[in-house]
Amino acid sequence: TRQIHLSARPSGLPGPEHFVTHEVELADPAPGEVLVRNTVLSVDPYMRGRMNDVKSYVPPFELNAPLEGGAVGVVERSASDDLQPGDTVLHMAGWREHAVLPAKHARKLDVSQVPASAYLGVLGMPGLTAYVGLTRIAEVHEGDTVFVSGAAGAVGSLAGQIARKLGAAKVIGSAGSPQKVAWLVDELGYDAAFDYHDGPVAKQLAPHGPVDVYFDNVGGDHLEGALFHMADFGRIAACGAIADYNAEAPVPGPRNLMMLISKKLTLRGFVVSDHGKAAPDFYRDAGAWLAAGELKFRETYFEGLDQMVDAFRGLYSGANTGKMLVRL
Ligand code: NDP
Repeated sequence: TRQIHLSARPSGLPGPEHFVTHEVELADPAPGEVLVRNTVLSVDPYMRGRMNDVKSYVPPFELNAPLEGGAVGVVERSASDDLQPGDTVLHMAGWREHAVLPAKHARKLDVSQVPASAYLGVLGMPGLTAYVGLTRIAEVHEGDTVFVSGAAGAVGSLAGQIARKLGAAKVIGSAGSPQKVAWLVDELGYDAAFDYHDGPVAKQLAPHGPVDVYFDNVGGDHLEGALFHMADFGRIAACGAIADYNAEAPVPGPRNLMMLISKKLTLRGFVVSDHGKAAPDFYRDAGAWLAAGELKFRETYFEGLDQMVDAFRGLYSGANTGKMLVRL
């Protein structure tokens, strides 16, 4: 079986030279462990941070060891009473075709209503991130105008729809292509959207403000542009700053941060893993919206372990609409 290791720490955009695929012998599961054949691997922007050798909210990936990440798969062999062969599970031993891991590190999934991959996206970490950002961090209220950047991505495509469910009167999105902009408006119910390549964010957002809540996936010029159009007492959920993840030197902050004062804004960062307590509410609400057909999601698939690095790089060129995944 094969697994991908990080062989060198990237500076800038990671390339094939930073990864090595190893062929390894499949181990037998020890007592308490299971052998899982992975079927879908998650590809997430946060993984870039773990490739640097710096302390963050998750420790850096080790060099010359299998990379980690969300994955779903099927139990093939079990040495645990908790899981049986045939069970579909979610776990963190991604970037590899098979995983041997303690059964307690795998969560059995109900795949009767949704495909297993949904637990990597709409019913998984990205969905919870969108939900937490809007309900616990920026606290969307009835009648709010909400702006979402990275709006056609895994988190963003759900954030716009969830904002609406929470009572937002107007939802605006930005994304990186005309096709994505059309998807937001035509299918996801965004009131307006723009392609950030068409002109400065500050200029394109102007006709749609003032903004009560900004869900920031991008940072950089998006954050600066949004600050110009925030309403007094507006709230910003700082979720991600993907525009800066591959920067080779520290990036200057927004030039208009002083607007935090004049507009009396709240800018609050968050990390989803601190918000496990919100998960039951999220599953209840998202489950109901999904069942009612009121929460739409899309997945973009790359095929095979050999495309994992391309899929990961694709996050930074916008190759995905909705959740980026690799099918094995
Ligand atoms: P996405 O599915 O949104 O994929 C990344 C998207 O970012 C791409 O599709 C691309 O779309 C866009 N993008 C890439 N480079 C740029 C750029 N320079 N400027 C603007 N947009 C860019 O990923 P996720 O939904 O998984 O994550 C979205 C954000 O949320 C990330 O910043 C991530 O780190 C963060 N996050 C934070 C969490 C937390 O706990 N705080 C948890 C999970 C995610 P386009 O074509 O539109 O450019």
